[in-house]
Amino acid sequence: MPEILDRARTQVLENGVGLDEADILAVLNLPDEHLPAALQLAHEVRMRWCGPEVEVEGIVSLKTGGCPEDCHFCSQSGLFTSPVRSVWLDIPNLVEAARQTAKTGATEFCIVAAVRGPDARLMKQMREGVAAIKAEVDIQVAASLGMLNQEQVDELVEMGVHRYNHNLETCRSYFPNVVTTHSFEERWETLRMVRESGMEVCCGGILGLGETLEQRAEFAAQLAELDPHEVPLNFLNPRPGTPLGDRPVVEGKDALRAIAAFRLAMPRTILRYAGGRELTLGDLGTRDGLLGGINAVIVGNYLTTLGRPANADLELLDDLKMPVKALSATL
Ligand code: SF4
Repeated sequence: MPEILDRARTQVLENGVGLDEADILAVLNLPDEHLPAALQLAHEVRMRWCGPEVEVEGIVSLKTGGCPEDCHFCSQSGLFTSPVRSVWLDIPNLVEAARQTAKTGATEFCIVAAVRGPDARLMKQMREGVAAIKAEVDIQVAASLGMLNQEQVDELVEMGVHRYNHNLETCRSYFPNVVTTHSFEERWETLRMVRESGMEVCCGGILGLGETLEQRAEFAAQLAELDPHEVPLNFLNPRPGTPLGDRPVVEGKDALRAIAAFRLAMPRTILRYAGGRELTLGDLGTRDGLLGGINAVIVGNYLTTLGRPANADLELLDDLKMPVKALSATL
């Protein structure tokens, strides 16, 4: 057994203290033969500090495409040639999407908009949309609307949005290679306001943007410092027409090493499979991740790419004897 896993067993599993950056890197560098042991330990950590439940979430795009920012992985940027045009969803369709999501047993419904930050029109849509969902559907509402000012943070709290997603996407040192229209610090500032408001902080990113393993470890350590309630972990699904459209997908084993390392860095967080896992891991790998530290999934489709059918995931959870987290347990 490699020394790092022995140490992690005491520090993370028994004492609940996450690994630091150097140790995260050691996990990311583990040879293939030690990967099963790393995943097994990450799974034990998740069971010990989070329990067996899996949180299920659905996401919907309130405003798709035409974003003025230039995140190099994103087909919703209006600055690239990727074929996603600006489209708005109306309130009845938003409520219907929430209803369909609730039917799968999901407890979280996240409303997403491709924007730098919300304008008055988007905040109005949110006010009406969140109120309509709350009146008709039994589900918690989360939001992801880009960078916020204090007034917008306060308004979202007032609407009853309980969790806010704002991804750092990658580590501080690599961020300028991925986004040039805003800074890592601007994103961090929104996260700080969200944390102080009492909303739950959801913050993750995308692996496979061209970052080194050192930068992947740096990213996990920076997320651990932020200590978010939830970390959505995406693997790049290279979109045609974006600057990262030709990047190779993350190797399955590297993705699994990253899942184990992120769990060992953050024993108590909700670590959610988000986009790209179908491409990187396939069905078998999805199972490995759920047995290697992941404890939340997104059901149905992602924003611009298709996911696995909701049933396939729910059947897998049943198979693994992992109960879907109930709404009453989260309220
Ligand atoms: S990731 Fe968000 S902010 Fe960046 S281009 Fe895409 S929609 Fe815009």
